[in-house]
Amino acid sequence: MTDPTRITHWIGGKSWDGEAERVGDVYDPATGAVSGRVDLAAPAEVDAAVAAARGAFAEWRNASLTKRTQVLFAFREILSARKEEVAAAITAEHGKVLSDAVGEVTRGLEVVEFACGIPHLLKGGFSEGVSTNVDVYSIRQPLGVTAIISPFNFPAMVPMWFFPVAIAAGNTVVLKPSEKDPSAALLMAQMWADAGLPDGVFNVVHGDKAAVDRLLEHPDVRAVSFVGSTPIARYVYETGTKHGKRVQALGGAKNHMVVLPDADLDLVADAAVNAGFGSAGERCMAISAVVAVEPVADELIAKVKERIATLRTGDGRRGCDMGPLVTRAHRDKVASYLDAGVADGAELIVDGRAVEADGDPAGFWLGPTLFDKVEPQMSIYTDEIFGPVLCVMRVDSYDAALQVVNNNPYGNGTAIFTNDGGAARRYQNEVEVGMVGVNVPIPVPMAYYSFGGWKNSLFGDTHAHGTEGVHFFTRGKVVTSRWLDPSHGGINLGFPTQT
Ligand code: NAD
Repeated sequence: MTDPTRITHWIGGKSWDGEAERVGDVYDPATGAVSGRVDLAAPAEVDAAVAAARGAFAEWRNASLTKRTQVLFAFREILSARKEEVAAAITAEHGKVLSDAVGEVTRGLEVVEFACGIPHLLKGGFSEGVSTNVDVYSIRQPLGVTAIISPFNFPAMVPMWFFPVAIAAGNTVVLKPSEKDPSAALLMAQMWADAGLPDGVFNVVHGDKAAVDRLLEHPDVRAVSFVGSTPIARYVYETGTKHGKRVQALGGAKNHMVVLPDADLDLVADAAVNAGFGSAGERCMAISAVVAVEPVADELIAKVKERIATLRTGDGRRGCDMGPLVTRAHRDKVASYLDAGVADGAELIVDGRAVEADGDPAGFWLGPTLFDKVEPQMSIYTDEIFGPVLCVMRVDSYDAALQVVNNNPYGNGTAIFTNDGGAARRYQNEVEVGMVGVNVPIPVPMAYYSFGGWKNSLFGDTHAHGTEGVHFFTRGKVVTSRWLDPSHGGINLGFPTQT
């Protein structure tokens, strides 16, 4: 067995050469082995990263749009060419299968491509002659140092929801990735350097609560983009705003797929399996509850069960369909819900604990799990499980299905499956969820739209990327201008009005 690799911070364009007071273990979830030891930042290291970002701001904000977009395009080319390398690092620390990891990087690249169009996105308005010889125009300017705090489940894509736009708009960044899978962030830091980004514009500090708390209170951090579980998102939002920062905090989810009786159940079963078990259910847009409007449940469950039997769970490097969970503790927590569901009276149709994984026995395995007859008060429904556990709920009508979805405190994503255009249109209008799929199980918006949920799935006013992202990372200014000539003379203490 090889010694664990040291994983450290990236500050001011290079690896940190200090000695960490605390370190954390990073696992290969498919073997259970400790593959890395990540330095966990103390406040002093966070301060060093923020100082580097602050030092780089003046030059970067004043770099021309042409220069900034050249760097963005170069980063895009490098990341695109080295996609597989980033994907391999994700699979090695997160466990998701390689093809899924490549998909993650590709979705992140979309935001980079969106940010390459920043000159157009930053265009302001201009009104000539609002008063005699007076013009008004609007501009958007960067904020300064921005912090990004990201979760384990998308170590490349989620940071890329934010940093391409932040950097393109002229800000500097301190990224604190999840300490569970920290390496993808460092690969991207090196790529920024190779793309010609000036030192200090993009920094990475690794760490846990101590690092997050320092970022939230640091007087030089202007904005915080957070993604993670709902309790921490709420905490980050409340703490960050208390310290005067602009905060967008995306939280947890419980996503429902409503199936109407007219839907094609083969296509629905495919979609439910893909969206329920892809990335072992560790996606914030995973489907975790199928709300079947009777009489479809029996037939649908049979079809889902058939498909589950064909899935191969195993090491993500071996061409399997589904990988392990991220840590042993998370695997055990998810597995504990299987007992809880049975104790609460749900019917366990497929038990993922019985899986024979194609991988090291010490890996963090749990196979696809299917529950039927799940009721709203059961913990397998009330809690965000974040694992390969799909719950089927049976209801009698569209209205009852809508009520289930709208009564849920989360509002990240949802999908309706039907061939009835009127019903789909009604659902998109009535459902209290931020991202809706019509016959699309994981409706993650393209980069030029904005990503974000409602209710307990997002704290703050602004969603990620798209025009909302550009607004988050800039602030507006309006200039009223005239070039004086003799006609402007004279004393008048009245409030200015147009003439
Ligand atoms: P998490 O909340 O445990 O961690 C997220 C980040 O917060 C990490 O960087 C972590 O180091 C930090 N953190 C952890 N505990 C903290 C504390 N006490 N104080 C301050 N910071 C702390 O989430 P996770 O387990 O890494 O990721 C899974 C969660 O993220 C799920 O709930 C999932 O739904 C959510 N998620 C949401 C979205 C979305 O778009 N809404 C996207 C991806 C993931």
